[in-house]
Amino acid sequence: RGGLTLLVQVIPFGEEQKMVVSRDITQLEKLETMRRDFVANVSHELRTPLTVVSGFLETLLDGWNDYSREDIERFLKLAHDQSSRMQHLIEDLLTLSALETGAPAPAEERVDVAGLLREVHQQTDLLSAGRHEVTLQIDGDGVLLGSQKELHSAFANLASNAVRYTPEGGKVRLIWRRDGQGGEFAVEDTGIGIAAEHLPRLTERFYRVDLGRSRETGGTGLGLAIVKHILTRHQAELQVESALGKGSRFSARFPNARLAVG
Ligand code: ADP
Repeated sequence: RGGLTLLVQVIPFGEEQKMVVSRDITQLEKLETMRRDFVANVSHELRTPLTVVSGFLETLLDGWNDYSREDIERFLKLAHDQSSRMQHLIEDLLTLSALETGAPAPAEERVDVAGLLREVHQQTDLLSAGRHEVTLQIDGDGVLLGSQKELHSAFANLASNAVRYTPEGGKVRLIWRRDGQGGEFAVEDTGIGIAAEHLPRLTERFYRVDLGRSRETGGTGLGLAIVKHILTRHQAELQVESALGKGSRFSARFPNARLAVG
C-alpha cells in the first residue's frame, strides 16, 4: 500500500522520480508474489493433515463396528498427531506474524545465559529421549539483554533441529562462549548435514531441504525464519556451517552491546 501511494504522488515530477516509481512497482510485485506463495504454502500445509484427520473420521463414521479397538486407537493416534501438527503450524505462524509485523520489541530483561541454557539442555535431552548424547558447555558466564522468552525460543529451536536431523547414536553439543567481541551460542551436531547450495535459503519461510524428513519429525519449515527474526531483534547474527553426512554448526553471535556483567 505504501508503494502505491508513492506511485500516485510521484508521477507528476521529473524523469528521475519516475525511476523511483518503477523500482517501487517491482518491489510491490515481488511482495505480492511472496504473499501469494505464502498463502499457497500455508493452505497446502494445513490441507495435508486436515485431509488425514477427516479421512479417519469418515472411515469411523461409516462403520466403526467393523474395526477392532486396536485399529480405532491407531486411527485416533494418527489423527491426534496430525492435529498437533496443525496446532504447531498455527503457533509458528502467529509467532512469525507477530515478529514480522514489527510487534514492539519486548521489554529488555537481564537473561542469565547459564540458567537459560540449562533449561534448553534439559528440554533437548527430553526430546532426544536417550537417542543422542546431548552435552552443554559454558565458557564464561554471561547476562544477555533481551527477551527471555524469545531467546529461549531461538535457542530451543536450534537445539531441537540438531536432535531432529541427527540419527540415533549421534552427538548434539550446546556451547556458550564469551570473548572480547561478545558472546556466542552454538549448536553442533553430528547429523545428516546440509549441502552448500541450500545454506543461503534455510531461513526462508517453508524452505526445507527434505520435506519428508521435516514432516516426519514434526517440522513446520518456519523454525529458522523465526530464529532469524528473533536474533535480528537482538542484534545477533546467525551463522551456519555444515558438511553433508557429517553434521552442522548453527551459531548466534551477540555483540558486547547485548551483554551485561553478571
Ligand atoms: P523444519 O521445521 O523443517 O525443521 P526449519 O526452518 O527449522 O524447518 O529448518 C529448515 C530446514 O533446514 C529443515 O527442513 C532442514 O532441511 C534444514 N535443517 C535445519 N537444521 C538442521 C540441522 N541441524 N541439520 C540438518 N538440516 C537442518
